[in-house]
Amino acid sequence: MYKHLFGPIPSRRLGMSLGIDLVPSKVCSLNCVYCEVGKTTNLTIERKEYTPIDEIEEELQHYLDNNPAPDHITITGSGEPTLNSKLGVFIEFVKKVSPNIPIAVLTNGTLLYDPQVRQELKKADIILPSLDGATKGAFLKIDRPNSQLNLEEYINGLAAFRKEFSGKIWLEVFIIPGYNDDKKNLIAFKKAFEKIKPDSIQLNTLDRPGLVKNIRAATRVELQRIIDFWSLDNVLIIAAAPKRKNIVAYRKDAETAILDTLARRPCTIDDLTNILAIPEADIHRYLDVLVYENKVVTTEGGRGTFYEIVR
Ligand code: SF4
Repeated sequence: MYKHLFGPIPSRRLGMSLGIDLVPSKVCSLNCVYCEVGKTTNLTIERKEYTPIDEIEEELQHYLDNNPAPDHITITGSGEPTLNSKLGVFIEFVKKVSPNIPIAVLTNGTLLYDPQVRQELKKADIILPSLDGATKGAFLKIDRPNSQLNLEEYINGLAAFRKEFSGKIWLEVFIIPGYNDDKKNLIAFKKAFEKIKPDSIQLNTLDRPGLVKNIRAATRVELQRIIDFWSLDNVLIIAAAPKRKNIVAYRKDAETAILDTLARRPCTIDDLTNILAIPEADIHRYLDVLVYENKVVTTEGGRGTFYEIVR
């Protein structure tokens, strides 16, 4: 039983990925509203050897000696890995003991303003940083950062890293409807992308409940609308496909009522909320599944997006 290794887990982006945790659970520079690990208990930008690297190296060596090679070794976990001051030493160790396995690092990217962090990360093969808000309002509301972080430095750090790093940068953007998906935020994101020049922009959204009530996942239709707005050719959706089992208290009768209503005439979300007295957030979830299954399609009309049944 390993303390700092997990998996390998199948990952759509990284194949069979062996995860390595470099910091204890919730040592992080952010306290994101959507964090699935829980509330950040040490909200810090101080780098130190939170977990002794010797211990992790020993576990990894044991794993590699006794198991088939994974597709990627992924530095990730339940906090921010760049906070471990021995990150660079560890990446060098991995390169030495398994030169043929690519190293991926999942980071929130907030420490990339620090040339030392950039220097250490450059030794990896794929970096997957995140950027959830390109306006100050969205950044503070979604990421709830350590007070010493500022958005401009954060974006400039990502841009500086791009100039110095020849590997792949897959920038993850977590969309929360009502928080970072309005026109002002989308324009600010696009400007940030022009500076950062990531190889790809990967849209994600809530899969499980986050730390804050009243936030919901973006639907496929909403994510696609964002892609259309940006009109860039390197954006993709990595959010998990919508599933009925993800709808809390899923009701077949509610789904049937939505389908019956749409069979009579196309409706907007507002129309369905008013007609059926089902909360708007639930209507979004049901429709997300129905659109994904091609039972319902959308069209744009004078009052916004209309949903209609596929006949
Ligand atoms: S950066 Fe990652 S680990 Fe830190 S709070 Fe945000 S989602 Fe959680």
